[in-house]
Amino acid sequence: MQNYDLKDMIYEGKAKKIFKSQNSDEVEIYYKDDATAFNNLKKSSLKNKGEINATITACIYKYLEKNGINTHFIKVLEPRLHLCKKVKIIPLEVIVRNIIAGSFAKRLNIKEGTKPKNVIFEICYKNDELGDPLINDSHALALGLATKEDLTQIYSMASKINNLLKEFFLKCDIDLIDFKLEFGKDKDSNLILADEISPDSCRLWDKETHKKLDKDRFREDLGGVVKAYEEVLLRIRKAGLLCL
Ligand code: UDP
Repeated sequence: MQNYDLKDMIYEGKAKKIFKSQNSDEVEIYYKDDATAFNNLKKSSLKNKGEINATITACIYKYLEKNGINTHFIKVLEPRLHLCKKVKIIPLEVIVRNIIAGSFAKRLNIKEGTKPKNVIFEICYKNDELGDPLINDSHALALGLATKEDLTQIYSMASKINNLLKEFFLKCDIDLIDFKLEFGKDKDSNLILADEISPDSCRLWDKETHKKLDKDRFREDLGGVVKAYEEVLLRIRKAGLLCL
């Protein structure tokens, strides 16, 4: 176990710390137990969450890489520490919705659980001070957040990732309701997938009972947050998808 206090930290976010690596093209990403919601208004520390999310993310990234998605993930260094390619993050949060829930349900007054006529893609401007506002492609281009080519590639990758993740979670008897993705550019300016994919960034419902197995348990004070995350990991293991 490394002494993380002695490592060179580049950045500390709400749920992760990013450390320098020996190779300047790479970084080490540490998953914290901290949980936040509602743009940092609700905060807590959930024992073991970091390790569970790091393990789920590693599994999903290996599965995506195996299926032709270019990502920043290189390897697991320690249970909650990943070696990743250093990227310049595109300041967009890309949301994919298979089933209506969360902010979409509230904003448009649609019952949670409704199936839309098509998969919904949204982009938000990644800016904590503004509360990550929903924007459109025209806004993203006007603000210089991404190029037209970037957006085309982002939507194409997001759609492929959605199909792969839906299949992955169905094998675990879980419906993938919605999720958030982030993309970045590596040293050669290739657009690649970055950040975590875990119950913190996805809505995951049990296929039969619709029990929430994700961060909504924290947002809505439903209790059993870490237990639900552990259950997701257990189901991934049972489905033979734990490729560590
Ligand atoms: N999401 C996320 N980070 C954010 C905002 C959203 O990971 O900063 C995820 C969220 O967990 C959900 C999906 O993106 O799986 C859609 O979230 P929504 O827009 O409904 O917002 P929320 O309900 O989180 O405010």
